[in-house]
Amino acid sequence: MTESANPEKIRCDACPVMCYIAQGKSGACDRYANHAGELVRLDPLTIIEHGDAKLVPFLKDSDPQDWDGNIVNANRPFVTAVGAGTTYPDYKPAPFIVAQDIAGVDMVTVVTEGIFSYCGVKVKIDTDRHIGHERDVVYADGEPIGHIMTSEYGSKMLSLGGVEHLTGGSKKEGRVTCDALLRLCNRDPVTMTIGEDDHRTEVVVQAGAAPIINGTPEKLMRVGCGSATIGMFAKQWLGHADDVVVVDDHITGVLSEHQAGKELDVPATGIKIKGRRSTPGRYFQVAEPGTGWGGTDIDDPLTILGPFNPKIAWPGLRLLMVSTTGEQFGYYVLDDDLHPQPAAMPAALAASTELIAENCEPSICSVLFMGGAGGSLRAGVTENPVRLTRSVKDALTHVSCGGAQAYVWPGGGITVMVDVLDMPTQSFGYVPTPALVAPIEFTLRISDYETLGGHMGDVQSLAEVASAPMRRVAPGALGHDPMDSTHYRWSRDREQ
Ligand code: SF4
Repeated sequence: MTESANPEKIRCDACPVMCYIAQGKSGACDRYANHAGELVRLDPLTIIEHGDAKLVPFLKDSDPQDWDGNIVNANRPFVTAVGAGTTYPDYKPAPFIVAQDIAGVDMVTVVTEGIFSYCGVKVKIDTDRHIGHERDVVYADGEPIGHIMTSEYGSKMLSLGGVEHLTGGSKKEGRVTCDALLRLCNRDPVTMTIGEDDHRTEVVVQAGAAPIINGTPEKLMRVGCGSATIGMFAKQWLGHADDVVVVDDHITGVLSEHQAGKELDVPATGIKIKGRRSTPGRYFQVAEPGTGWGGTDIDDPLTILGPFNPKIAWPGLRLLMVSTTGEQFGYYVLDDDLHPQPAAMPAALAASTELIAENCEPSICSVLFMGGAGGSLRAGVTENPVRLTRSVKDALTHVSCGGAQAYVWPGGGITVMVDVLDMPTQSFGYVPTPALVAPIEFTLRISDYETLGGHMGDVQSLAEVASAPMRRVAPGALGHDPMDSTHYRWSRDREQ
């Protein structure tokens, strides 16, 4: 990997930047350094320990020869690609190709830190607050790094990064995009600005943390849309209110008109909702989107009401208005002119708003890394790259990222998506090309590896790999085990 440029510097060839690195210094990505004339990867190789057994042979200063590689005693350590290093150009074998005997099956895991030019993150922000319109541009440090996609159920979705931002804009756009992706993937907070001019929102996103919108940390994800809330809690309101309106930016629900109210014999109240009626008791566009009640721009819920129908409504009619998180609520009684007047909330209705809030989950940000591994990276696995793609599709090869479960998209290529919270901390790096560096592992039977043209001459045993500095981590929250036989077609075929 190294080549002398002059007596003081060595050249790193782990990515296209090809840094010359002076003695005692690190390269542009801070991942490689020159230690006494030797190029070293600065982060230790990360292995995942499944089970309680301690992997004593993997201690940094221990002699790997002390360990006989007994996989049963070691409780299936999994060598991830975190800290493994990259290869460039890709025809070279991956940094580690590790053989293990798993319950009598000879398996191999091909481990590499991939350089992803085609990558980005999908961000899910649990909030009802309006943070921007679909297709609004997301900025970091004044540079466009992505855009808003649609809203999912109680969440706003962002698409950040991708090759267009990394390579298709200015140099600064690519650098800022890469930096934002790196920080998001390594679970650090990133401050973003969404939209322009009069509809600009500042959002701080951090994987696993509550979003901070215009300086205010979000607390709750809504329990459902207004219609769903009516469906869930209709019975709680019977006898305590004559009508209930659940205010929501997307679908506002009205108890007396809703199917749930009909089935519970709630009589008509003559209520009039401004907005577009969809089906009975369900209204769209009752207000503009915003940071007020239920993701609308209103602070006073009465603004979405028209005059009550005097032929149906009656003085003394009791009305509850509540948001989809239960955080905002108001109780009103119609006066003799059929105008709603604020009144003291009965205890039973107060309890129902608390029940709505109790049923809301905490609002958090989720960050999913997404990258294309169907390109040259495959050559580090096999001399016949398309066979790797086919092997993944045929469920003979299992793909993981830092040992975490990776969703492989259907169709061509090997496009993976993984929750960064399932991966070991500090799993990601970068190179200044710019591109993100992410761990990826391919695990398969050694016989299948040979069939697809794998680099058989570079297969190592676990004991050999144990000579590298190691970081040992526990499995992610999902406890994913890439070597579990149920991932593989041959295991399923065997059971039939
Ligand atoms: S940026 Fe990092 S990986 Fe690329 S050549 Fe420089 S030190 Fe090596």
